[in-house]
Amino acid sequence: MTEITHHIPDALMAAYTTGSLREPYALVVATHLSMCLECRASYEAHQALGGAVLETTCEADVSEALKSDVMALLDAPVADEPVHKRSGVYPGPIMAALKGRAPKWKSLGLGVRQCILSGNAEGSVRLLYIPPGQAVPDHGHNGLEMTLVLQGSFSDETGWFGVGDVELADQELEHTPIADAGPPCICLAATDAPLRFNSFMPRLLQPIFRI
Ligand code: ZN
Ligand code: ZN
Repeated sequence: MTEITHHIPDALMAAYTTGSLREPYALVVATHLSMCLECRASYEAHQALGGAVLETTCEADVSEALKSDVMALLDAPVADEPVHKRSGVYPGPIMAALKGRAPKWKSLGLGVRQCILSGNAEGSVRLLYIPPGQAVPDHGHNGLEMTLVLQGSFSDETGWFGVGDVELADQELEHTPIADAGPPCICLAATDAPLRFNSFMPRLLQPIFRI
């Protein structure tokens, strides 16, 4: 695997650690964490920071036994969430979102496919499959788009993104991501508002495919 050069920005990591990051983005962060040692270290630092704040504000007189019970609870894994293992290019958090099954792809034309993992008015998260050399139509964003590469790579006006890299795109950016030669590019993409396509056809197709 090539080295990851595009990571989770600190503000997003802080929001993720406190559980205030919206679900579509939280899945992208969780998936990146499963692939990136550097961000896992930063996540643990954020968690330790949260713990330190807890310790200094928790001045109440509690017995050592109660304190250790509470601490034990904090470290306990959530009971009813089954742990999913990586399968192929899909890390555990994505397998959990897929409920352990293979993705069901829907064609968007020109060989591009998507599989929506979850979506509502608040935002959506999907897998995208882009054949080598194929462009995702030039588009702008109404909100924040977060894309994580799982297989292959793509390039756009801002740079090159390989496996594990995360691209953040907002209202300011109009871009045309193009999958590189080699294996098809498979990405996990989260958005909180529909994308704005600049050519007529994709805009026409947008309501049908929920891009
Ligand atoms: Zn990272
Ligand atoms: Zn975009």
